[in-house]
Amino acid sequence: MLRMAQPIIHHRTAEFREIFKRASENLQYLFQTEQPVLTLTSSGTGAMEAALVNTLSAGDEIIHVNGGKFGERWGNIATAYGVTAHPLAIDWGGAPSVDDALAMLDRHPGAKAFCLTHSETSTGSYTDVRAMAAALRERFDGLIIVDGITAVGAHEMRFDEWGIDIAVTGSQKGLMIPPGLAFIALSERAWKAAETSTLPKFYYNLKKAKKSIATADTPWTPAVTLVIGLDQALEMLRVEGIENVWARHDRLGSSLRAAVRALGLTLFADPPSNAVTSINLPERGDEFYALLKKKYSITAAAGQDHVKGKIFRVSHLGYYDEADMLAVIYAIESALTDVGHPHEQGAGLAAALAVFSGTENPVEVK
Ligand SMILES: *Cc1c(COP(=O)(O)O)cnc(C)c1O
Repeated sequence: MLRMAQPIIHHRTAEFREIFKRASENLQYLFQTEQPVLTLTSSGTGAMEAALVNTLSAGDEIIHVNGGKFGERWGNIATAYGVTAHPLAIDWGGAPSVDDALAMLDRHPGAKAFCLTHSETSTGSYTDVRAMAAALRERFDGLIIVDGITAVGAHEMRFDEWGIDIAVTGSQKGLMIPPGLAFIALSERAWKAAETSTLPKFYYNLKKAKKSIATADTPWTPAVTLVIGLDQALEMLRVEGIENVWARHDRLGSSLRAAVRALGLTLFADPPSNAVTSINLPERGDEFYALLKKKYSITAAAGQDHVKGKIFRVSHLGYYDEADMLAVIYAIESALTDVGHPHEQGAGLAAALAVFSGTENPVEVK
């Protein structure tokens, strides 16, 4: 990643084009798609906005799953552009059921898009996008749009095979580089929708970006330094192999979940994301959370909105490995000891090690 500290190169040079071309091809591997994956200079939300403004028109309707801050965001973006958003509201920490999703289609037959959040970072919950896309597609011609911002690179995602129409992700989550780049892929159906979309767009005009990427170029000046970092990060993912990356995140998520249960804590999300684990705070939760951060230097995130003070979230997305998880679990155990939470010393570490060695008790510890 020190490549990002080297002198800047101009973006309209053969040197940059070569890097951008390779990174763009590796993004197709990451998304498992033959479609071009466009790189935008923005945070992830920019790609979410681009998804809607390039395919919809004022007065259109969308359905979006709303079970957290990010699912809610689809609705906020739509509304800002005069698109009517119908939320499929679910309890925070849960995931939408296929039946409820289909019922929304029945209720709103004119919906042009169905927006999902693959890994809802604010709650740590996971949505089975493969199953959802398959069920929706049977009776829905509109666009299946997926916020993959913490899922891509942590959970299996096969854009083409699963019939996803638009997927977005961002640089600072699964891609292990600083914030500032967002990525978006569109299916043929989505590109067709782009032909008739009349919502205003200029910077986020994806047709322009698609035209440019054919010559390894971007319509506007890209964040060159970040693209260089991206190239390196994608190279690492490619070397590890995408299936292995998914499996590693599954192992890391499983180990933390097993440890949490063994320590007598409970998980907030069901089903859980393998990118972030949300855990209900123990008694003396504020003190516990402060110790975790200050005494044990663990960067856990707090809950937001109505789960503030109720949960804490531990990320294990990107550069994490087994040793990192053991350090986190050790810190959680120690902070629990400090606040007098009863548990067997080392029980969390033992549970995680059992997951790593594949010898965990198949009967889950409750
Ligand atoms: C972080 C995140 C976003 C927003 O991305 P920004 O880069 O902050 O704009 C959207 N969705 C999910 C699931 C996220 O985790």
